[in-house]
Order: sequence, then C-alpha cells, then structure tokens
Amino acid sequence: MAETAKILNPSRTVLLPSLKAGCSLAASITADDVRALKARFPGVPVVTYVNTYADVKAESDICCTSGNAAAVVESLGTDTIIFLPDEYLARNVARETGKHIIFPTRLPNGQLHADTDMEYDMVGWNGRCEVHEQFNVADIANVRAQFPDVVILAHPECSPEVVAASDFSGSTNAMIRYVEQTQAPHYLLLTECSMGENVAAANPDKEMLRLCSVRCPHMGQITLEMTRDSLLYTQYVIDVPEDIRVRAYRAVERMLHIG
Ligand code: SF4
Repeated sequence: MAETAKILNPSRTVLLPSLKAGCSLAASITADDVRALKARFPGVPVVTYVNTYADVKAESDICCTSGNAAAVVESLGTDTIIFLPDEYLARNVARETGKHIIFPTRLPNGQLHADTDMEYDMVGWNGRCEVHEQFNVADIANVRAQFPDVVILAHPECSPEVVAASDFSGSTNAMIRYVEQTQAPHYLLLTECSMGENVAAANPDKEMLRLCSVRCPHMGQITLEMTRDSLLYTQYVIDVPEDIRVRAYRAVERMLHIG
C-alpha cells in the first residue's frame, strides 16, 4: 500500500515506519511469475489485486480492490482473464461472475502447468492472505449456535465456503455501510482484527462479535513509536523506479476509472 501511495503521488515523500511490515499475499507472486503467466496465456488481460508489489502491478493491465473486483473483471468484456494473486478472492469473484477458474501449478523444473483441457474463463494464482484463510465454517457454526440471530460479514479474502456460510461479503467499507444500513442484535466480523475495529468504530451503537485471535503479524509491526520515529527521522523512504511506477500507475489509474 505504501508503494501504491508513491505510484499515485510521485512528487511526495512516502514513509513506511517498519521495513518488516510486509504481506503474505503480496509476497506470493513476483513480476517474473506474471511474465510467465502472460507467456503461457498470451493476450489474456491481467487483473491484479492492489495488495501486490509495484513491479507486479507494472506487469498488469488493471488493478482491483476487494470492493470492485467483480466490476473490474466484468468491465474487461473478454472471454478469459488472469486474476492475481489471491486464490480465495479469485474463487469468490469467479462464483459471483459465473466463471470457471483454473489454477496453474509450478512443475519441479520451474515451468507453469495449467490443466487447459477443462473449460475455463479465469486463470488464478495460489496466493493467500495468512489472516483471512484462518476463518472456517466451524467458527461460523459455533457462533451461530451461541447467537442464533447473529448477522455474519466475511471479507472476500476468506474462503468461498466461509463466504457462502456468511450473510454478507464485502470490503471493509462495504461492511461499514452494511452495518450502518441494517439493524441486527449482533454482527460477527470475519476480517483482520484492526480492520474489524474500523467497522466497529464506525458503528459504536451496534453490538459486534469478533474472533480476534486473528491479527495480521505484518500490520502489527507498525507501532505508534515507530510512526513517530518515521516522521522524526524521515524513515523509511519508499522509492519506486520510474519505469515501473509509470506502468503500475496505468494499471491503478485504469481501476480508479471504474471506481
Ligand atoms: S491482513 Fe496482513 S497478510 Fe492479509 S492481506 Fe492484509 S497485510 Fe497481507
């Protein structure tokens, strides 16, 4: 996200308080992987989730967020789409848009293998958010047993089974709007804890249940003291090489036109 801020604001100084604040999902794919996929599926447009590094965005045709992923996919109007790198978001989008998805695998020799004998309209990647993949259907059943009137909201980085067992799926902003516009005795938020805290803070009058053993270790790297030091000592400055920034900007800007 720090790189995305720099991609969109090249003349501004963008700081990241901790260099350890990575992301399992962003680390799941490299620019080389995207180039290999494009070579394997020539001419197929690449949609990339914003939780990726700048050089991966630079290899992509358009970016998406968890809130607009289906709209971005449908906006392309092509028969086939490469959707990277979140496996669960891709499966959820495929289900929402009625597409069949395949997931190429790496052979021991490093080549990509894809089972193209079966029908497919989307090509995914096996990236996962290490936080959202922890939610499961048993969690939902347990909470429903204790709170039969609970309304369950799942982030689309959760598995399709968890999304299907929930009452609503959407981005953090969509969750905030959903809770604002509905009245339920309890809500359960299946999302990263600090993201869930944002939804709860926006709806102080609503009762939130959360499974908050699930915190992102990467986001947790950034503390208030580190943020202070970052501003005091101008550290750590995010830089994106200009040739990568310009190509990544195109993919992000194209998404912003869709909203
Ligand atoms: S919750 Fe953590 S691991 Fe998951 S997408 Fe966000 S930063 Fe990455």
